[in-house]
Amino acid sequence: MTKIGSNYNFLFPYGFQLKSVLRSAEEVNGQLIVKKRSVPYNLIGMHAMQERILPTHPFAEKLKERIRIAQAGIVDQIFLKYQFGFEHYIFHDLNLTSTGKFQLDTLFLSPQGVYILEIKNIAGRIHFPNEWNQMVRVLDNGQTDAFECPSVQLERNCFLLEDWFHSRNLSVPITGAVVFTQSRQLIENSRPRLTMLFPYELPNVLRKREQKPPILDSKTLSVIVHELSSAHQDFNPFPLCNTMNISPLDIKSGVQCENCGMLGMDKIFRGWICPGCHHVSKRAHQRTIQDWFMLVSETMTNRECREFLHVSANYTAARLLGELPLEPEGMSRGRFYRFPLNLMKEDYEKSPDSQGTLH
Ligand SMILES: [Zn+2]
Repeated sequence: MTKIGSNYNFLFPYGFQLKSVLRSAEEVNGQLIVKKRSVPYNLIGMHAMQERILPTHPFAEKLKERIRIAQAGIVDQIFLKYQFGFEHYIFHDLNLTSTGKFQLDTLFLSPQGVYILEIKNIAGRIHFPNEWNQMVRVLDNGQTDAFECPSVQLERNCFLLEDWFHSRNLSVPITGAVVFTQSRQLIENSRPRLTMLFPYELPNVLRKREQKPPILDSKTLSVIVHELSSAHQDFNPFPLCNTMNISPLDIKSGVQCENCGMLGMDKIFRGWICPGCHHVSKRAHQRTIQDWFMLVSETMTNRECREFLHVSANYTAARLLGELPLEPEGMSRGRFYRFPLNLMKEDYEKSPDSQGTLH
């Protein structure tokens, strides 16, 4: 196992933005929320991406919107605000595998069964064309985008979860809804069999559900909670260039200044200096190496390190890489390094950002 050295600390400079994403719900509602939101790997990676692609890049606008969506966290706030007087368990960001891999935004479990909530944070007017299974969004400026219909996504997730329960000999009723987080969203029509909700409707819907006859007893519920908790696997979205289809050539290299954000700090003895603001740092390369793994590649060689950090000496890159708790593979010239995801998790959970506060 990799141990995090005392002089090692990846930085998370996005404090105020991350607070709205990962909430520490146990502090508010006791044992009810079984699984909190995962470490927002994707969001941390997307922030790094934003720093390293040109603002004129064709993906830049889309990236902005994806960051906004990832930051929403509105449904989480609903669950933190309301108390339900019946037995229930809440899981956020569950990644499971049955006949296929699937991710559930929020799973609400009670004696009536499972209620899946697919969360959509999409600005603009929305309609569902009759002739095909898409959701079309029109922005005020006329821009039109098509998305997969959430009814298809919800149905797929219901089937996959059904298979998942089936393989464990559990029979659990599964229903679900799509939650549109923008309460002023204009939805022009709907799909007949799709339940669409706004966040403020959630408490009533869940309370009404509770009036139906119970199907699962407490013992079965605790078996399900245990099974779900132990089956969850963190999803690794890196490198984002692959998952977002961006050329690694569009990622700007250079060590980023922690003070002014400029790329291309110069190497000085045992540290770095920013040519813009003259800030001196000992550890600025750590974030930059993390950026490489988040954005460009699963592995880093000595040469890639030199090129990305703009250092010339082989032994300097070897020392910088060797100092970090990365996973080395191969020997001498063929050596390369991997970035263990749990490193980021441990580091994130230690950071003040992971505590989350209610606004
Ligand atoms: Zn600077």
